Amino acid sequence: MHYFHYKEEDLYCEEVPIATIADRVGTPFYLYSHRTLVRHFKAFDSGFEEIRHLVCYSVKANSNVALLRIFVNLGAGLDVVSGGELFRALKSGVDPKKVVFSGVGKTEQEIEYALNSGILMFNVESSQELVRIDEMAKRLDMRAPVAIRINPDIDPKTHPYVATGLMENKFGIDFKLAMKEYTFAKGLPHIEIIGVDCHIGSQLIELQPFVEALRRVKELIHDLGQRGIEIQYLDLGGGLGITYKDEIPPHPTEYAKAIVEEASDLDYTLIFEPGRVIVGNAGILVTRVLYTKETGEKNFVIIDAAMNDLIRPSYYGSFQGILPVTKGEEEKIIADVVGPICESGDFMARNRRMPKFKPGDLVAVMSAGAYGFSMSSNYNSRPRICEVLARGDRFHLIRERESYDDLVRGEKIPDFLG
Ligand SMILES: *Cc1c(COP(=O)(O)O)cnc(C)c1O
Repeated sequence: MHYFHYKEEDLYCEEVPIATIADRVGTPFYLYSHRTLVRHFKAFDSGFEEIRHLVCYSVKANSNVALLRIFVNLGAGLDVVSGGELFRALKSGVDPKKVVFSGVGKTEQEIEYALNSGILMFNVESSQELVRIDEMAKRLDMRAPVAIRINPDIDPKTHPYVATGLMENKFGIDFKLAMKEYTFAKGLPHIEIIGVDCHIGSQLIELQPFVEALRRVKELIHDLGQRGIEIQYLDLGGGLGITYKDEIPPHPTEYAKAIVEEASDLDYTLIFEPGRVIVGNAGILVTRVLYTKETGEKNFVIIDAAMNDLIRPSYYGSFQGILPVTKGEEEKIIADVVGPICESGDFMARNRRMPKFKPGDLVAVMSAGAYGFSMSSNYNSRPRICEVLARGDRFHLIRERESYDDLVRGEKIPDFLG
């Protein structure tokens, strides 16, 4: 459920006509609906009200500090995967005691930054990382709170690039070796074991893999208890999918119900790290048609946004809805929507039925709130685009469009080149 809707011929975000925003900020731009973001966060969070829990929004899905602030104001914690994300998290005003730090490759500098910031816990992914964190904590004369990320070897039945809980993936520690790893961690003087973590993948559209993972991890926590390792936090990661085209993912309340059923008797706090399900359908990419072109074989709609702005179609072959910002064109054609970048993989949609767009028309690329701006780059020296937040009948620029000067910031020509 989101608040992008037509009033007669015109597409609106909440009460703002999208064409009005385009006139003001230019194209392309990302547009988010405040009401949708709040609704999605609350829908997720409220499903767990019966049990002790903390929702740590996954910063990498969309890391704009204004969005982080929205969730933080609603009581969220944050899940970060780099020093840069931790910096953003702290900028957003989050309580560091609600920050979890995930990822397979934390550097010394990142570990030190997180220890000094007083985060809730590290989700640790290898023995070597445990040793590194122990050393860093010793240097700072602290104990580092950790959970170990378990790879439960469960098929999330999703795209291979976003499956993370299978033996073949780089993430986590083999389920069968978990006890050994925990025993090892227990012997490290500057490590304080407080949790177990698992995240099995992204864009899951079935509940069963989540429930299976939870069962496996519960068993582990039970066994840990028998060996005197008490767990206070179980982090179940993120991964709940959304509708891009015709997928029917479980509603967050169904997801919550399935988890709560399995977890109501537990006396530890559950942590969740949702990303896509909160922001995915709360944002769109608005772009303008530059040209249209017919080859003998095909129709092309050439837009001013490209794969550097939204890489999901190129990278995952993902589907993004394509809608006219102003309806009216009755005639429909089958076309590819492509960007200006010098790569054949630069497309937003292929062989899609759509209105016969004309140069100057505005096009909305739907479901672009997650892994949109946050995965964008400057490829082809294209300045990164601006981000806008609509709320009611108003809108706010929450990130400026980059300039050409931004593109070369930090670059230097050595003296010998004259
Ligand atoms: C990416 C990621 C998430 C968020 O995944 P979504 O599919 O966007 O919900 C949560 N936790 C970890 C560890 C991740 O890597």
